Amino acid sequence: MTIADNFTSVMNRIAAAAKRANRDPLSVRLVTVTKTVSIEGIREALASGAEILGENRVQEAKEKIEQLGSSAGWHLIGHLQTNKAKYAVKLFDLIHSVDTLELAAEIDKQAAKIGKLQDVLIEVSIAGEAAKAGVALDDAVNLVKRAALLKNIRIKGLMTMPPYSDDPEKSRPYFKKLKELSAIIDRENIPGVSMAELSMGMSGDFEVAIEEGATLVRVGTAIFGERV
Ligand SMILES: *Cc1c(COP(=O)(O)O)cnc(C)c1O
Repeated sequence: MTIADNFTSVMNRIAAAAKRANRDPLSVRLVTVTKTVSIEGIREALASGAEILGENRVQEAKEKIEQLGSSAGWHLIGHLQTNKAKYAVKLFDLIHSVDTLELAAEIDKQAAKIGKLQDVLIEVSIAGEAAKAGVALDDAVNLVKRAALLKNIRIKGLMTMPPYSDDPEKSRPYFKKLKELSAIIDRENIPGVSMAELSMGMSGDFEVAIEEGATLVRVGTAIFGERV
């Protein structure tokens, strides 16, 4: 299977999952995860129709963006260190991984410096594992309310990453919880906050995520093969 074949197959599976859930396939966007993938590999994905590329490290993304330009949208999906926020606001259309007020404030400050309104998602740790990234479920509403006061960031929704499992059904309760949280925050009508986006689902579980309401699925391995 070539990258082009894999890409088409993932797009077809996205459309089929959306149909099963009585959703418009266009309401789900694919973030093609290109971490560790070569420039040639990424070019193949772009030629196949990839519109959004996801990277999890700022430095790696910077090198690729310098070579590929903005032929696609670039999303930061991995953890962001506060001291890299300055570069992140220059490079990314959407940052999926805001999980502390300190990070939100730094992104806001750096975005203000370059006159940008930076779109972000709040990353939530549903499982509450201490070592994992993401704000705890119980603290998420409070973080959204406080981050919403920052003028140069715009909250567009939520992101989560369930604990790893071979069984996609194991992810379903986490996706349901994120969707519930998104509805709770939506009902708060916090000025400037949108809950339009739900970033959830990876190669192993994106179809379940779509059934549970994902609007952004982040898929790498199913397109490029196992990372080395
Ligand atoms: C690597 C990564 C993905 C993609 O994972 P695959 O299993 O390769 O599809 C999605 N989200 C995040 C945050 C990642 O770091």
